[in-house]
Amino acid sequence: MENCVFCKIVRGDIPSKKVYEDENVLVFKDLHPVSPVHVLIIPKVHFENVHAMSVSEEGLAALNAMFRALPEIVRLVGLEEKGFRLINNCGVAAGQSVMHAHFHLIGGRSLGTKIL
Ligand code: 5GP
Ligand code: ZN
Repeated sequence: MENCVFCKIVRGDIPSKKVYEDENVLVFKDLHPVSPVHVLIIPKVHFENVHAMSVSEEGLAALNAMFRALPEIVRLVGLEEKGFRLINNCGVAAGQSVMHAHFHLIGGRSLGTKIL
C-alpha cells in the first residue's frame, strides 16, 4: 500500500529498528514504547487488520508465519523466561491507529493482571 506507514517500513522507505525478519514477517521496535520491551510484529504483506487476515487464506497463512516466528522473536528480545503480553487492536474503536495488521509484544516489567 502506497501510503501505509508499515508498508513503508517493510520497503525501507522509512527507517525502523528491526529485531527480526524473515520472508513473511517483520519485527521492529515501537516508536513510543510503553515498556522496556515493546516491538511490533507485522506481516510483510498489507492487511488492514487481524480480522481481515482471518477471513482470507493468504491472511491465515501470514498469521501462521507470525506465530511460527514468535518463539524466536521472544528469545531475541529476552522475554523467554520473563513472559510477555501480546496485544492486537483491531479497528478504530479498539484503538488501532495504523491500519496495517500488527501485534504489540510488550514486556520487561510487571504488567499487572488487568487488560485495561
Ligand atoms: P495501534 O495503535 O495501531 O495498535 O499501534 C500502532 C503503533 O505503531 C503505536 O504504538 C505507535 O507508537 C507505532 N508507530 C506508529 N508509527 C510508527 C513508525 O513510523 N515507526 C515505528 N517504529 N512505530 C510506529
Ligand atoms: Zn501496509
